[in-house]
Amino acid sequence: MADCELCGAARPTLCPVKVQDPRVKSAYPTGTWRGINEECLEACLQANLNRVSLDAKKCDLCGIKKVALYQVKVQVPIFQEPYHREVNKALCESCFEACKDTKKRREAEKEEVHHH
Ligand SMILES: [Zn+2]
Ligand SMILES: [Zn+2]
Repeated sequence: MADCELCGAARPTLCPVKVQDPRVKSAYPTGTWRGINEECLEACLQANLNRVSLDAKKCDLCGIKKVALYQVKVQVPIFQEPYHREVNKALCESCFEACKDTKKRREAEKEEVHHH
């Protein structure tokens, strides 16, 4: 099991998103991987289509500061009814692009499975 980097929900598999983390950019110039679950990937893709600016300090996925950030509503699991609550996360433009790439990759993988 692994925990989603946005909502913290544990899943057997996560969707890898390649982000540009400014804190480790010198070590990983081409980007590093963050794992998010399918629900959060969809939430990010939706948020990208319907952009709402958010006044946040940094991107919740890559950690970049001082860029335009957008609101993403994710469902964070909690231990009492109704077992999740909606939390606003902030994502930057480049992470939205990374989410789109992840989605494309996943769709291509599904195609592969169908052809075999
Ligand atoms: Zn999540
Ligand atoms: Zn970001």
